Amino acid sequence: FPSRLPDVGTTIFTVMSALAAEHQAVNLGQGFPDFACAPALVDAVTQAMREGHNQYPPMAGIPALRQAVADKTAALYGRSYDAEHEITITAGATQAILTAVLCCVQPGDEVIVLDPCYDSYVPNIELAGGRVVRVPLTPGTFRPDFARIAAAITPRTRLIIVNSPHNPSATVWSDAEMRQLEALLAPTDVLLISDEVYEHMVYDGAPHCSAARYPGLAERAFIVSSFGKTFHVTGWKVGTVAAPAALTVEFRKVHQFNVFTVNTPMQHGLARYLADPTPYLQLPAFYQAKRDLFRQGLEGSRLRLLPSQGSYFQCVDISAVSDLGEADFCQWLTREVGVAAIPLSAFYGDGFDQRVVRFCYAKKDETLRAAIERLRRL
Ligand code: PMP
Ligand code: GLN
Repeated sequence: FPSRLPDVGTTIFTVMSALAAEHQAVNLGQGFPDFACAPALVDAVTQAMREGHNQYPPMAGIPALRQAVADKTAALYGRSYDAEHEITITAGATQAILTAVLCCVQPGDEVIVLDPCYDSYVPNIELAGGRVVRVPLTPGTFRPDFARIAAAITPRTRLIIVNSPHNPSATVWSDAEMRQLEALLAPTDVLLISDEVYEHMVYDGAPHCSAARYPGLAERAFIVSSFGKTFHVTGWKVGTVAAPAALTVEFRKVHQFNVFTVNTPMQHGLARYLADPTPYLQLPAFYQAKRDLFRQGLEGSRLRLLPSQGSYFQCVDISAVSDLGEADFCQWLTREVGVAAIPLSAFYGDGFDQRVVRFCYAKKDETLRAAIERLRRL
């Protein structure tokens, strides 16, 4: 039968993790921590199971978790979401983004994505029958180019998807850039998905400029986050969407016939764990130390380090090391040097190859040191 996604193969993350396992390479490819989450979080989930929280929770998520998310958003970003009507618990950010796309994109609607972008956005738009409009971030710096974004907006534009801190480039949008986006969208009906899964990974004292802080953005936004990133539990697949009530009504129509709801004991455990803000408030310092360890280790190597303002990714320019294209380089690096990375070309529609690859530094210090030792030999 005709494929709904004729151009889609296996994701680069799965491919590179399998290759890393095959060659016993240090896996700095797929983004996930190789260290344990907090024991207190596991205890909270275990306790919830023992207490009998094992049946379907409410469709939108348990009230205590929705309230905890609303409280956190109000405290950090100054916007009060109504937990009952404006916060929904999802099966990770992946399901949140797909559901948001499906609930607002009609066949033929145009959706703007900024290249390079996370690999699920484009297939999500295609599943909804939308037309993908790719606008490149500025080559070299990966900053948004508002003139190009403005030029891409037409009367058929329904949605734009932005992501800060950014995967894969590790850039973080500034307050001025968020204001520019707000001004650009003000005269339009364009909706926004703001993918903020790395909201707690912004370094060097910079703020995370959540769309929630900007009234002109928040009123049109599905703001997506993921506990997988924040609490080192990518396998749990629990995320959140904050959106104004009218958008949330439409979101939940799709959500209820997509997953209906999300696993109960994790929600109870997370709600309890969120009562103490310390873990997520300490996250920038925790990951900044890993970023600095990795960067210092690679200083003096022939890999040219790009900035890593946020997320847990470090991009490097490989042109002084190899004549190979990015994808071939990542294969070679995994097989011959024993370190797995992700080619940035995987995040571009046209496979644009600028000789840059992405490493994930959400790893034990000893893992990072093992990778550094190998990479310094290049
Ligand atoms: N968006 C971005 C930018 C991501 O990096 C990821 C995780 N790789 C996701 C969404 C998906 O998050 P989750 O694992 O919660 O589905
Ligand atoms: N978000 C992770 C990354 O960018 C991977 C998620 C996945 O494997 N789909 O590496």
